[in-house]
Amino acid sequence: VDANIVPITGKIKGELNMIVLLYDITEIRKLEKVKSDFVTNASHELRTPVTALKGFSETLLDGAMEDKTVLKQFLEIMYTESSRLDLLVNDILELSKLEQKQVPLKIERINIQEAILSSFRLVKKEAEHKKMTLILTDTEITYLNGDISRLKQILTNLISNAIAYTGIGGKIEVTVTQTLTEAIIEVKDNGMGIPEDELDRIFERFYRVDKARSRNSGGTGLGLSIVKYLVENFNGTIEVTSKLGLGTIFTVRLPFQD
Ligand code: ADP
Repeated sequence: VDANIVPITGKIKGELNMIVLLYDITEIRKLEKVKSDFVTNASHELRTPVTALKGFSETLLDGAMEDKTVLKQFLEIMYTESSRLDLLVNDILELSKLEQKQVPLKIERINIQEAILSSFRLVKKEAEHKKMTLILTDTEITYLNGDISRLKQILTNLISNAIAYTGIGGKIEVTVTQTLTEAIIEVKDNGMGIPEDELDRIFERFYRVDKARSRNSGGTGLGLSIVKYLVENFNGTIEVTSKLGLGTIFTVRLPFQD
């Protein structure tokens, strides 16, 4: 709690000469901490690829480039690291645009099944590479009013995570059902799963269960925080259940709105 003491001057001076204003600043402090943690983490994450790029280019310039094999090997690493940097900067900008509500919403009637099939097409290459089966469980066609590009962003993020954290030959199943008031989308994989005590942390910015694995699969650690933000934009909720070594289910509930 913070306090402000405001001396009173003027007519009512006399009996009452001061007002004490009390207000709760825990929420403000919390927000400030989230922001400063974000800047610290973002800088740290950005530093990793930048350090690698600097180190490898310096070594090449110091003479290592004379050896063609080393040159090729280092350039490949530098290419991977700059792609990482690109992904990171994109996700950081995306999150900040969403927070500042800079992206206008385009509301239309969405056919959810079509949005899912379109996300399947976007991840087709990754899925084929890992010999995955992508399944859309056929239920009745469900419509929802909202911004289709945001729904696709939610779906694509969840489906590419499912692919990234599931082994070769795995199965990703997306199911859509509906109640009178909401559409329910489930993204289920039979992958590595998430330890129970980390389940509620995975939506935090930059939180990863296994940093090295996330890096290797091209993850930035921001995907699920973006998803959570977008789901809340639909006034919806997202939940996760998981069994280590068996698989994970993300459940997104999106209320029908007029
Ligand atoms: P990342 O870019 O690392 O994938 P996300 O924010 O999308 O970041 O996810 C945060 C972490 O949650 C991941 O690093 C991973 O450890 C875990 N995770 C997300 N989806 C899954 C999944 N389907 N199966 C297992 N772990 C997952």
